[in-house]
Amino acid sequence: MSLQATPEEVRAVEEEIEQIGLRPFINPGVERKVIAVLGEVDVHKADLVERFSTMRGVDRVELISDLWKLASRAYHPEDTVVRAGKVAIGGRQVAVAAGPCSVESEEQTMQVAEAVKAAGAHLLRGGAFKPRTSPYSFQGLGEEGLKILAKARERTGLPVVTEVMDTHEVELVQKYADILQIGTRNMQNYALLKKVGATGQPVLLKRGLGSRVRDLLMSAEYIMAEGNHQVILCERGITTFEDSCRSTTDINAVPVLKHWTHLPVMVDPSHATGDWKYVGAVARAAVAAGADGLLVEVHNDPARARSDGPQSLKPEKFSELMGEISRIAAAVDRTI
Ligand code: PEP
Ligand code: MN
Repeated sequence: MSLQATPEEVRAVEEEIEQIGLRPFINPGVERKVIAVLGEVDVHKADLVERFSTMRGVDRVELISDLWKLASRAYHPEDTVVRAGKVAIGGRQVAVAAGPCSVESEEQTMQVAEAVKAAGAHLLRGGAFKPRTSPYSFQGLGEEGLKILAKARERTGLPVVTEVMDTHEVELVQKYADILQIGTRNMQNYALLKKVGATGQPVLLKRGLGSRVRDLLMSAEYIMAEGNHQVILCERGITTFEDSCRSTTDINAVPVLKHWTHLPVMVDPSHATGDWKYVGAVARAAVAAGADGLLVEVHNDPARARSDGPQSLKPEKFSELMGEISRIAAAVDRTI
């Protein structure tokens, strides 16, 4: 819409879109109002362009060629900033979420939460529902784990990021989480994506192990199409022929995503490498490449961790890492 478009003119365009059987989505951008038109109808695109171009208040009509419409930069040129409590993800500050892979006990979670808070983390991560490769591995504490996370948030003030694995658990996890995490294995669980989309709560969407960047964006689109635009994308390493590490960090994905979408991009160097020795280097590379945040596993006693001990940093190492990434952030005009 043109900068001078009146609310009535905007409304008239919306009504026209609805009348054709399409859905309007308004991005009330600071610069200008962009209305995305979504859906499929049996009308020639050129006719639609013509029809809307001549309406009052319309500046121009563009076809978004990307399959991800709402996630596209064309629809929303400004960076999206997702907010969880007082933390902003996608702004100038690089947001760091740190904590254990799994919530194992109140004592363990409190210790780690206080340590990561003292080191300067902005968010607390921790899984209560765990997607494990083996059914015989620890599956998480469930609701008890969520309660522990809520207590840790109360104690430290850190907003909580935690995974929801099943559509039936969304309501429960939503009560405790500030950011709902969709794990790698569920990136294309469309029923779950729609369900978290309907909550309107911030979502951290992790890239599937065998998914392309474009698949990740289509999954984000599922959440956004439900009206929830509070989506953070997370590169967590993909499966390639390379087997020196648990996964291969696709560092390219960071600048590609920043180009293709307005959504914030985080990197998880812990699951990407699977080895605490490499976590620092990949975290530094991620910040240098333009990531808006990091997701880092930290454990007070990695040798005894019930999941992902080998990739978990001890609190002292995490604290060192925070210092290192602060220097990288400054070099790329960001803060920690
Ligand atoms: C996690 O972050 O807790 C997790 C299980 O990671 P991923 O889904 O990336 O394997
Ligand atoms: Mn883990």
